[in-house]
Amino acid sequence: MSRTKRICVIGGSAAGPKAAAKAKRLDYNAEVILLQKDPDLSMASCGYPYYVGGYFDDRNLLIGTTQGTIRDPRYFLNSKGVDARTSTEVTAINREHKGLSFRNLITGEQGELAYDKLIIATGATPRMPPVPGTDLTGITTLQSMQDADYLRRIRDDRNIREAVVIGGGLIGIETCEALQRADIDITVVELLPQLLTFLDWEMAKLVETYVKTQSANVITGNGIAEFMGSEGRLTGIKLQNGTELPCELAVVAIGVQPNVELARQAGLAIGETGGIRVDAFMQTSDPHIYAAGDCVETYNMITGTQVLAPLGDLANLQGRVAGENAATDNSVTFPGTIQTGICKIFEYNAGSTGLSEAKARSLGYEDIVTTISASPDKPGFMGGLLLVTKVVADRQSGKILGAQCIGPGDVSKQIAQWAMALRAGHTVEDLINCDLPYAPPFSLAIDHFVAAIHVMQNKIKGRMDGISSLEVKAKLSGGESPFIVDVRGPDEYKEMRLGIGEVLIPSDTLRYRFGELPGDKNREIICYCVTSLRAYEAALVIRAEGWKNVRVLEGGIMAWPYDREK
Ligand SMILES: Cc1cc2nc3c(=O)[nH]c(=O)nc-3n(C[C@H](O)[C@H](O)[C@H](O)COP(=O)(O)OP(=O)(O)OC[C@H]3O[C@@H](n4cnc5c(N)ncnc54)[C@H](O)[C@@H]3O)c2cc1C
Repeated sequence: MSRTKRICVIGGSAAGPKAAAKAKRLDYNAEVILLQKDPDLSMASCGYPYYVGGYFDDRNLLIGTTQGTIRDPRYFLNSKGVDARTSTEVTAINREHKGLSFRNLITGEQGELAYDKLIIATGATPRMPPVPGTDLTGITTLQSMQDADYLRRIRDDRNIREAVVIGGGLIGIETCEALQRADIDITVVELLPQLLTFLDWEMAKLVETYVKTQSANVITGNGIAEFMGSEGRLTGIKLQNGTELPCELAVVAIGVQPNVELARQAGLAIGETGGIRVDAFMQTSDPHIYAAGDCVETYNMITGTQVLAPLGDLANLQGRVAGENAATDNSVTFPGTIQTGICKIFEYNAGSTGLSEAKARSLGYEDIVTTISASPDKPGFMGGLLLVTKVVADRQSGKILGAQCIGPGDVSKQIAQWAMALRAGHTVEDLINCDLPYAPPFSLAIDHFVAAIHVMQNKIKGRMDGISSLEVKAKLSGGESPFIVDVRGPDEYKEMRLGIGEVLIPSDTLRYRFGELPGDKNREIICYCVTSLRAYEAALVIRAEGWKNVRVLEGGIMAWPYDREK
């Protein structure tokens, strides 16, 4: 049978192989050639931190199918019908002649290939801080299989005692855990005032506090000024405030930049974000060329702007669309992203979808309402684990704009639910009686997600006057003295307390102790308990007794990001 067309794919990790396989599935007679610079194909880069951290020891699991077949060129040819060439770098795209030049990195052989359709999936490169000393031995990133091999050897050799991770984002935080599991003393250094910038500050602070309990040091609000070394080897880093941290290993994880040089040299349009510009078909400014994955900029469906969203799920989804369109001359579209992400750090999880409060405000959303709620993910008798969720919604329409969830509980399920709600454009009222699966091994009768919606509804309807931990802290620091009531039981109070001038009035004694509340019925009263569920009920009772300004500390003690007295 004669060939219908030749589809060439540049890049062989996530987006590239997905595009190549999809194109071949849809056009059996197409010749699909994939050119990959790295020696490996289809690497599960999201798995690198877990390989380095010793969650599994067999490197082949990173490049194998679930049945254990290594995804090498033979596998691609036999199983997918794709001619995959490894250690082959594409050096130029010649759009006029619809051709590309390549070089074999092992043999040095150079060659040319003509294409009918081309898919660029060249990924991204880690950024390095512009400071002296970056060429010292002992400084690495965790981006490639070679990086993963290097760090895994360090784990196995057990020669290194102290390391720093530069950057407190998703990869930095996962690398922190991986190295800590290798018995390395680890410090995470972050230039911004918080870890994980997809979270709002108070949520990130809860994660930071937890990370510190796992024998990892965290320094925020301070960047690296210099890598220090001796005889070509790293011996420490100097921070911008002059602090010196001795270390033998530094892993840089301050973000990635899209690999667009080939595209730029070929004259393809590059967006303002620095990623290759594509339309909904994943088509570049040249109709014969598609692009997908970390190298492109992606439409944000909430803000209507282009963003860089270097995430593995998007790379695969976009690759699939690019492959289908290259084979079928444009039959499907990619709608965009709502920027959903998640990571694990020790026994904690942190995820988000849509806009954080900070992001929403920076984009000019003014009339928004936020809530923080805390609860276990399932009943205590089934070993329920804590979840803390922050929701951001538009006050007028009630439309959900974003959600963040952290804690040892099932954050992934929560964020998945919020992501679907966001994609559907649901409002608080749409979700209030959401029929989710329930049995004690999986959730509470009213799932944490639905409970968070109930809190939001109570707030929008004025039934609950919530106050955030930040606002309480600001009041106390500003010399205000609201009347603060802890409504938990005495045993709970003995075990753990905030120590912010609170009075203990257990909720089951409240109805007999109104005399202990302020005589001035206009004085601000702030109630809290562990999660603020009992506090909400107490606040309703106090309000019904005539006090006018009764507020509930959102998320209670579980969402208090500052130091506690006990
Ligand atoms: C440590 C780590 C953890 C991560 N964890 C997560 C996670 O938990 N969840 C998540 O969603 N995302 C995660 N990501 C991000 C995710 O891995 C990336 O978004 C995804 O790999 C992007 O796929 P891609 O195919 O676009 O690019 P890449 O994976 O970067 O692959 C691009 C490939 O193109 C090749 N190439 C480049 N230029 C050329 C050329 N000129 N010629 C030939 N080949 C070329 C490169 O060698 C490379 O193999 C993680 C990333 C890392 C590094």
